[in-house]
Amino acid sequence: MKNVLVKKSTAGLGLFANVNYEKGEEIIQYLGETITSDEANRRGGKYLFELNDQWMIDGKSRTNIARYINHSCRPNAYPELSQDETQVRIYAKKRILPGEEITYNYGPQYFKIEIKPFGCRCQKCSKVSL
Ligand SMILES: [Zn+2]
Repeated sequence: MKNVLVKKSTAGLGLFANVNYEKGEEIIQYLGETITSDEANRRGGKYLFELNDQWMIDGKSRTNIARYINHSCRPNAYPELSQDETQVRIYAKKRILPGEEITYNYGPQYFKIEIKPFGCRCQKCSKVSL
Protein backbone atom coordinates (compact mmCIF):
# COMPACT_ATOMS: atom_id res chain seq x y z
CA MET A 1 0.00 0.00 0.00
CA LYS A 2 1.22 3.45 -0.84
CA ASN A 3 1.51 5.97 2.00
CA VAL A 4 0.41 8.85 -0.19
CA LEU A 5 -1.66 9.24 -3.36
CA VAL A 6 -1.75 11.89 -6.08
CA LYS A 7 -5.35 12.93 -6.72
CA LYS A 8 -7.45 15.88 -7.85
CA SER A 9 -7.87 18.68 -5.34
CA THR A 10 -9.28 22.21 -5.36
CA ALA A 11 -5.97 23.45 -6.82
CA GLY A 12 -5.36 20.88 -9.55
CA LEU A 13 -3.56 17.77 -8.45
CA GLY A 14 -2.65 17.31 -4.81
CA LEU A 15 -1.03 14.80 -2.53
CA PHE A 16 -3.28 12.87 -0.17
CA ALA A 17 -2.56 10.72 2.85
CA ASN A 18 -3.35 7.04 2.42
CA VAL A 19 -2.34 6.16 5.99
CA ASN A 20 -2.41 7.83 9.40
CA TYR A 21 0.31 10.32 10.25
CA GLU A 22 0.94 11.37 13.81
CA LYS A 23 2.04 14.90 14.66
CA GLY A 24 5.75 15.28 13.90
CA GLU A 25 5.93 12.17 11.73
CA GLU A 26 7.87 12.34 8.47
CA ILE A 27 5.62 12.09 5.41
CA ILE A 28 7.94 12.43 2.45
CA GLN A 29 11.24 13.86 1.26
CA TYR A 30 11.33 16.66 -1.30
CA LEU A 31 13.56 15.11 -3.93
CA GLY A 32 15.43 16.79 -6.73
CA GLU A 33 18.62 18.08 -8.12
CA THR A 34 20.61 20.43 -5.88
CA ILE A 35 21.54 23.52 -7.86
CA THR A 36 22.93 26.99 -7.11
CA SER A 37 20.60 29.96 -6.72
CA ASP A 38 22.11 31.42 -9.91
CA GLU A 39 21.25 28.26 -11.83
CA ALA A 40 17.77 28.33 -10.29
CA ASN A 41 17.27 31.89 -11.51
CA ARG A 42 18.28 30.80 -15.00
CA ARG A 43 15.95 27.81 -14.98
CA GLY A 44 12.96 29.30 -13.22
CA GLY A 45 10.02 27.00 -12.58
CA LYS A 46 7.53 26.34 -9.86
CA TYR A 47 9.26 23.53 -8.04
CA LEU A 48 12.33 25.26 -6.69
CA PHE A 49 12.81 24.76 -2.96
CA GLU A 50 15.25 27.11 -1.26
CA LEU A 51 17.81 25.45 1.01
CA ASN A 52 19.73 28.62 1.86
CA ASP A 53 21.11 31.73 0.14
CA GLN A 54 23.28 29.67 -2.19
CA TRP A 55 21.49 26.41 -2.89
CA MET A 56 18.12 25.21 -4.08
CA ILE A 57 16.47 21.91 -4.87
CA ASP A 58 14.85 21.72 -8.30
CA GLY A 59 12.00 19.33 -7.63
CA LYS A 60 10.45 19.42 -11.10
CA SER A 61 10.96 15.71 -11.77
CA ARG A 62 7.76 13.67 -11.66
CA THR A 63 9.52 11.16 -9.43
CA ASN A 64 9.45 13.89 -6.78
CA ILE A 65 5.84 13.32 -5.73
CA ALA A 66 6.28 15.86 -2.91
CA ARG A 67 5.94 18.45 -5.68
CA TYR A 68 2.21 17.68 -5.76
CA ILE A 69 1.77 19.04 -2.25
CA ASN A 70 -0.26 22.23 -2.55
CA HIS A 71 0.06 25.44 -0.58
CA SER A 72 -2.39 26.06 2.22
CA CYS A 73 -2.85 29.07 4.46
CA ARG A 74 -3.97 26.59 7.14
CA PRO A 75 -1.69 23.62 6.47
CA ASN A 76 -1.46 20.24 8.15
CA ALA A 77 2.22 19.69 7.34
CA TYR A 78 5.45 21.66 7.23
CA PRO A 79 8.79 21.35 5.46
CA GLU A 80 11.99 21.13 7.46
CA LEU A 81 15.62 21.33 6.37
CA SER A 82 18.14 18.74 7.48
CA GLN A 83 20.79 20.18 9.78
CA ASP A 84 23.38 20.26 7.01
CA GLU A 85 20.87 22.09 4.77
CA THR A 86 21.09 19.54 1.97
CA GLN A 87 17.70 17.84 2.28
CA VAL A 88 14.08 18.82 2.84
CA ARG A 89 11.48 16.60 4.41
CA ILE A 90 7.79 17.20 4.97
CA TYR A 91 6.41 16.43 8.44
CA ALA A 92 2.89 16.25 9.83
CA LYS A 93 1.95 19.37 11.76
CA LYS A 94 -0.91 17.52 13.40
CA ARG A 95 -2.55 14.13 13.06
CA ILE A 96 -3.46 13.47 9.43
CA LEU A 97 -6.03 10.84 8.52
CA PRO A 98 -6.24 8.75 5.34
CA GLY A 99 -7.99 10.72 2.59
CA GLU A 100 -6.87 14.13 3.84
CA GLU A 101 -4.94 16.34 1.49
CA ILE A 102 -1.40 17.10 2.65
CA THR A 103 -0.54 20.80 2.49
CA TYR A 104 2.11 23.16 3.75
CA ASN A 105 2.59 26.89 3.72
CA TYR A 106 4.85 27.89 0.84
CA GLY A 107 5.93 31.02 2.67
CA PRO A 108 5.21 34.75 2.22
CA GLN A 109 7.56 35.36 -0.70
CA TYR A 110 6.18 32.56 -2.88
CA PHE A 111 2.63 33.47 -1.86
CA LYS A 112 3.05 37.10 -2.90
CA ILE A 113 4.50 36.27 -6.32
CA GLU A 114 2.94 32.98 -7.40
CA ILE A 115 -0.37 32.67 -5.53
CA LYS A 116 -1.89 35.99 -4.51
CA PRO A 117 -2.15 37.44 -8.07
CA PHE A 118 -4.24 34.42 -9.15
CA GLY A 119 -6.20 33.94 -5.94
CA CYS A 120 -5.39 31.30 -3.35
CA ARG A 121 -7.24 28.04 -3.89
CA CYS A 122 -6.46 26.43 -0.56
CA GLN A 123 -9.32 25.02 1.52
CA LYS A 124 -9.26 27.99 3.87
CA CYS A 125 -9.47 30.57 1.09
CA SER A 126 -11.52 28.61 -1.43
CA LYS A 127 -15.30 28.57 -1.29
CA VAL A 128 -15.31 25.06 -2.72
CA SER A 129 -16.03 22.57 0.03
CA LEU A 130 -14.63 19.09 -0.39
ZN1 LIG B 1 -5.13 30.21 1.14
